[in-house]
Amino acid sequence: MPETVNRQIVLAARPNGWPQEADFRLETTQVAAPAEGQFLARNVYMSVDPYMRGRMNDTKSYVPSFQIGKPLEGGAVARIVESKHPQFAVGEYVMTMNGWREYFISDGRLVNKVDPRLAPISAFLGVLGIPGFTGWYGLKEIGQPKPGQTLVVSGAAGATGSLVAQMGRLLGCRVVGTAGGEEKCKYLRDELLVDAAVDYKKEPDLFAALKRACPQGIDIYFENVGGDMLDAILRLVNPHARIPLCGMISQYNNAAPEPGPRYLGSLIVNRVKMQGFIISDHMTRLPEFLGEVGVWVKSGRIKYRETVKEGIENAPRAFLGLLRGENIGKMLVRVGPEQ
Ligand code: NDP
Repeated sequence: MPETVNRQIVLAARPNGWPQEADFRLETTQVAAPAEGQFLARNVYMSVDPYMRGRMNDTKSYVPSFQIGKPLEGGAVARIVESKHPQFAVGEYVMTMNGWREYFISDGRLVNKVDPRLAPISAFLGVLGIPGFTGWYGLKEIGQPKPGQTLVVSGAAGATGSLVAQMGRLLGCRVVGTAGGEEKCKYLRDELLVDAAVDYKKEPDLFAALKRACPQGIDIYFENVGGDMLDAILRLVNPHARIPLCGMISQYNNAAPEPGPRYLGSLIVNRVKMQGFIISDHMTRLPEFLGEVGVWVKSGRIKYRETVKEGIENAPRAFLGLLRGENIGKMLVRVGPEQ
C-alpha cells in the first residue's frame, strides 16, 4: 500500500510564560493510503489562533489541553487528494480541525465542505470563519449596537476586530479602533474607515487618549485584549453600556495572573452588561452569519486582509508572531498548493 510522507508540528514542551520555538518540534510521519470509507487530504491553509496558547497549558478549560509529543490541532482548509469515501471527491475542499500537519486521513466525521465559488478558501479561516463569526455574534447579540452609539473595538486590526469595526460602522455606530503601531492605525483609518484609531503602544496615557477619541463616552466595548485597556474603558463607559468579553490576549502569556481590573464598580454605577462567550456554543447560528456577512464580503462592503506565512515548518513562528502582533488581519500558514 503506498504511503505519503507527512510533516507535522508536535508540542515538545509546555510553555512557561511566552512560548519559545523550542516548545515545538517538526516531525515526519508516513500516512497510509485511505481505506474504504476514508479519504486522504492535504492541508492548504492552516490557522494559528490566540486560544491555542491556552491549550498549551495543562489546565481545565472549555477545550482539552494539547498533549506533549502529540501533533497540535486547529482549523485548516484541505484539498482531497485521494478518496474511497462516497461523499467526498478528489479536488473538493474541506474544513477540519486537523491543522499543524500537511496530510491526514479522515472518515468524514467533523468535516465540512468548503465552496471555493463563494470566496477564496482562506477566507473560511478568517472573515468567513471562526474569527468573523465570533465578531458577528458578540457584537450583534451582546453588543446590541444602535445607530449613533460609540463602539470601541480593541485588537481592531486583527481577524475578529476588523470585522467588528466594519460591522459597527455598517450598523451606524461611531467606531473607535485600538491597535499596536502606526501601520495598523493607518489601516483602520484608511481601509476600515473607523472614525478614530488609538495606538495603544504609543499613547503614554491610554485613558486620556480614549477619552479624546470618545467625546460622547462608550456605549459598546468589544473586548479582545484585557489588561490596561479594559481598565481605561471601564472609566469611560456610559450608562447601560454593553461589553462582549471575547478575549484577553494581553494576559495569555502571563506566568501568574495580574491584579485587576480596578474599576469594576463602574459596572454597577452605570448598569453595564459585561458578558463572556465562547463561539462554539453558538454554531447553530453559523448559516445566518454566513448569509449576512457573506453578502457584505462579496459586495466589498466588508474588507479583509490576511498575513500568510509559508510552510508547515514556519507554523510555530507564525503562532509566536500572532502573539506579538505581527499580523494585519488573519494570520495563516500556507502548507500546501491550492490545486
Ligand atoms: P487577531 O487576529 O486579533 O491577532 C491577535 C492580535 O492581538 C495581534 O495582532 C495583536 O495586535 C493583539 N495583541 C497581542 N498582544 C497584545 C497585547 N498585550 N495588548 C493588546 N493587543 C495585543 O486574533 P483573533 O482575531 O483570532 O482573536 C482576537 C481575540 O478574540 C483574542 O483575544 C482571542 O482569544 C479572541 N477569540 C475569542 C473567541 C471566543 O469564542 N470567545 C473565538 C475567537 C477569538 P496589536 O498589534 O494591535 O497588538
